[in-house]
Amino acid sequence: MYKMMTPGPTQVKENVRLARAKECGNPDIDESFADFYKETCEKISRLLHTENETLILGGEGILGLEAACASLTEPGDKVLVLDNGIFGEGFADFVSLYGGEPELYTVDGRNPICPQELEAFLKESHDYKYATLVHCDTPSGILNDIGVLCPILKKYGILTVVDAVSSMFGEEVRVDDSGIDILCGGSQKAVSAPPGLTFVTLSAEAKDAMARRKTPVASFYANLRLFEGYYEAKWFPYTMPISDIYGLRAAIDNIAADPDMLPRHARIAGECRKSLTEAGLKLYLESGFSNTVTVFDVPEGTTAQEILETMRSEHGILLAGSLGSLAGKVIRIGHMGSNANEEDMAETMEALWKTLQKLGVELKR
Ligand SMILES: *Cc1c(COP(=O)(O)O)cnc(C)c1O
Repeated sequence: MYKMMTPGPTQVKENVRLARAKECGNPDIDESFADFYKETCEKISRLLHTENETLILGGEGILGLEAACASLTEPGDKVLVLDNGIFGEGFADFVSLYGGEPELYTVDGRNPICPQELEAFLKESHDYKYATLVHCDTPSGILNDIGVLCPILKKYGILTVVDAVSSMFGEEVRVDDSGIDILCGGSQKAVSAPPGLTFVTLSAEAKDAMARRKTPVASFYANLRLFEGYYEAKWFPYTMPISDIYGLRAAIDNIAADPDMLPRHARIAGECRKSLTEAGLKLYLESGFSNTVTVFDVPEGTTAQEILETMRSEHGILLAGSLGSLAGKVIRIGHMGSNANEEDMAETMEALWKTLQKLGVELKR
């Protein structure tokens, strides 16, 4: 096996793996499962500083994003899609799929979305049912300030859908203070459980908007309304992946028991950026660095593939390239969740220097 230093999936601790191996009950018939599920949801809400209800869905992070769009969008709805990265832009596809009319608000991908510019835009144009935005757009590592951007959108009566899959628990997310109507998370990033689960946190306003729909949601699996009253009825729309949820619960308990989680992410990310720049490498972003992932340009004279292969075969460390227009141009170090520990980072940086030297890259240190 190799050491995972990728920006998701991340390393999964032994207690999470063991929790998944527990004997399974029948989550459809055993009513105590509804309590376990609800308690786990409430623990997630608490970590996100919200009174809003969280739902765990049986599907990977993408299901959360799609379910948010499927459940809110009616044919003809105008949706503002804030885009300074690949996941940001990708929301437009979900909006279109469910009959909405996405309008892209596209800005430079090397800096976070500027609140003043967004506000100036909204002054002229704010007739949108909801807006989508990404907290950390993982392919570039850009971090948008949702705590400032969402309140601006709300001021114009626009509901907010936030993808925080790769930021939550590595960066602070305060749902109630920020006015986030639907927040989407996933099990395999800073949560450090295996891939397979997503969770969505829903405001009363988001639930209202769904209840006021004139047309049915054009999906069964992605329809968040199906969970209404699940606890009272002890009924789920589909059989819940009980072992995955046991694992998620252990991972959430790990986070709740770790007061150093956010400071450690900040420390490790800061050190990572500093060592890369001191070595003469170039960070991809100009500003807005997420503390969960660091992205640097592939230096002259070598390729992303050579770096990734050497890291893996000679040092047993898995790093990631990127997607879309960034494929082949950058390398990503994922220091989120269980990956974010000093020993693994030191080993990764040491291996990276050796790898780059071997590939003929001259380093300043
Ligand atoms: C990982 C991730 C998702 C989930 O997508 P996958 O590529 O299927 O893992 C969604 N949004 C963001 C920002 C992510 O980093």
